[in-house]
Amino acid sequence: MKSESLQKNIAEIKGVGPKVKEELNKIGINYIQDALFLLPKKYENRTKLTSIKDLVPGEAFQFEGEILESKTIFPGRRSFMARISDGTGFLQIRLFYFSYAQANAFKVGLHVRGYGVVRSNGSLLQVFHPSYKIFETSKRPILDDTLTPIYSLGSTNLTQFRTRNIIKECLKEIEYLNLNEKEIDSIFRKQKISSLSVKDALLKIHNPSVDDDIIKINNYKHEAQERLIVEELATNLIGVKIASEKINKLRAQEMKASEEELKTFKENFPFNLTNAQSRTIKEISEDIALKKPMRRLVQGDVGSGKTVVAAVSMFIAAKNNTQSVLLCPTEVLAEQHFKNFLEWFKKSNIKIELLTGKLPNAKRKRIYQDLENGDIDILIGTHAVFQDKVVMKNLGLIVVDEQQRFGVKQRFDLVKKSTNRIMPHQLFMTATPIPRTLAMTIFADLETSKIDELPPGRKPVETLVYNEKKKNEIVKRLEAVCKAGNQVFWLCTMIEESENLDVQAADEAKEWIKENTHGLNIGLVHSKLSKDQRDKEIESFRSGKTNVLVCTTVIEVGMDVPNASLMVIENAERLGLSQLHQLRGRVGRKADLEAYCVLIYHGEIGEIAKARLEAMKSTNDGFEISEIDMKLRGSGEILGTKQSGGIELKISDLSRDAHLINKAEKLVKGLDNADQNLSRILLDRWLGDKQNLIIAQ
Ligand code: ADP
Ligand code: MG
Repeated sequence: MKSESLQKNIAEIKGVGPKVKEELNKIGINYIQDALFLLPKKYENRTKLTSIKDLVPGEAFQFEGEILESKTIFPGRRSFMARISDGTGFLQIRLFYFSYAQANAFKVGLHVRGYGVVRSNGSLLQVFHPSYKIFETSKRPILDDTLTPIYSLGSTNLTQFRTRNIIKECLKEIEYLNLNEKEIDSIFRKQKISSLSVKDALLKIHNPSVDDDIIKINNYKHEAQERLIVEELATNLIGVKIASEKINKLRAQEMKASEEELKTFKENFPFNLTNAQSRTIKEISEDIALKKPMRRLVQGDVGSGKTVVAAVSMFIAAKNNTQSVLLCPTEVLAEQHFKNFLEWFKKSNIKIELLTGKLPNAKRKRIYQDLENGDIDILIGTHAVFQDKVVMKNLGLIVVDEQQRFGVKQRFDLVKKSTNRIMPHQLFMTATPIPRTLAMTIFADLETSKIDELPPGRKPVETLVYNEKKKNEIVKRLEAVCKAGNQVFWLCTMIEESENLDVQAADEAKEWIKENTHGLNIGLVHSKLSKDQRDKEIESFRSGKTNVLVCTTVIEVGMDVPNASLMVIENAERLGLSQLHQLRGRVGRKADLEAYCVLIYHGEIGEIAKARLEAMKSTNDGFEISEIDMKLRGSGEILGTKQSGGIELKISDLSRDAHLINKAEKLVKGLDNADQNLSRILLDRWLGDKQNLIIAQ
């Protein structure tokens, strides 16, 4: 139960009208407390202005200047350019996605203040898609006096500016709010975890002063952040524990298949299973033959063949007249699995369907109905399967692919989909090795299987590191690969965290490759394409019609095109190690095919980024990579921390914050010993309405 003051609706805050409220609700903000716990993903220093002459390419700055020229540029792709000067030099602001009104606002003579990463194009300084404000000299805005928090706003229409103001208003209320903090704060003190109160931590986190070390705070190493991380981790431990206890009391369906049936089914695969795959399947079969609900985590490096393990398990489920779901983090992946499953189950009378967010209504309704009637045996889908309308007659098994992409809460969400009141067995698959410390705590409730062997004939992917200046050499390799009948992924990574820039980079790369090669078919996939366009591009690449697929990180997880043998990653220095490893795993998936991964870096790079690229060169082993990753991340470089753990976590990152687990356990102990049910308060705070899913199981 939320106490009265916590109930205070976000609509009561100044600046929150019905429309804004709706947007806030979309990201789970219903009460003031929820807004306070929308924690910044990073900070920018906008407390000072940098003269244009002092701007350094590759870094982010706040700048200001008078607009000297402004125009929309044709031909080719429409873009916008404004030239500004502050008397010390000139700077170009470039926009590639803009409205007429936006372009029109850049009136010559007005001033603009912006913040963004500076790039150099020859002697020209440019900023792409900065955040900016246009003003008359008489109305010059004051500078921020604290570091500026940047929030994750998902796909809402909220702007950073508005969100900051709303949160500022909420912070004004903090003194009057009952966050039930006294008791919890006192446990933090008693257990010697932190002396900072939750209110002070929140005030700090939303408004860090200029004196706070921006590097430390962007690395989540600030005391206030650690105070909250410990609390969130503890909440997760509690949630997992409660849910496990409940689940273990429930009964699942016993599922068995005969040796003969299994053998016949496996003949549908165009290969023999590896020993590791067979062992894992055996472990799963033994689990699901029992009434005790299975909860098993399958760890296997990229390319180790986890999908067939899922398929065999789901086959057994279907043979026992129960339904099963395969949950995937992206549509691309769900569609790929769907195609494979159709092939593998071709000879059976098992009915398979695909459910993603973009299905036409009629089709979707039919799937809902068939699921409820029990006419669909196997459902493959994305987050769309969480919809309330998805109800299954007899759900017996849940498989979560790339489980690190899903939050702890979601691990428990799906089990509620069945109307038969039987607890489904659960199987989680991941390529991200989980550091031992974490495996022992957060995942304590899961059994694990390891697929520690790659299918035969795989050659390790050879990894090369190039400076961007040598891009021309890479094109020769690319042409050679295509000439030999193989295919190439060319990946453009994010430049700062802007989707627009991502898309822009991909567009440019495609043009560049076109200009520098002959007679190749080049495809392009990015987030701005419609689903149809994207499907077409991906299908064309899969079928071999396209030689080179230029793409953004939409292809990161799971994409399987065995004929691809070269992966080029631009701005590789910006990616974390595990992400690089995932991406590299897209090639080298065919026996006896030499595969390469070319990592391109831009300009001068830091020590840690260098170490990451070196690590990629030195090993292909996911477990080794994750160990190195832990070490490097521990030493904290801003760029390394952009990866996040489960998407449900607000501030913690399971691998970055592993060292705080001990403290989280201490907190749990303290909470257990308290007279009141304080855990409930934490679940309320961190999981909000969603906690019911865990508690009610
Ligand atoms: P991941 O573990 O990364 O999910 P996938 O399941 O996508 O790996 O499998 C990677 C590739 O290896 C696919 O093309 C798959 O068909 C193939 N594969 C899986 N198991 C075997 C096997 N035992 N022998 C040969 N190829 C296999
Ligand atoms: Mg996979």
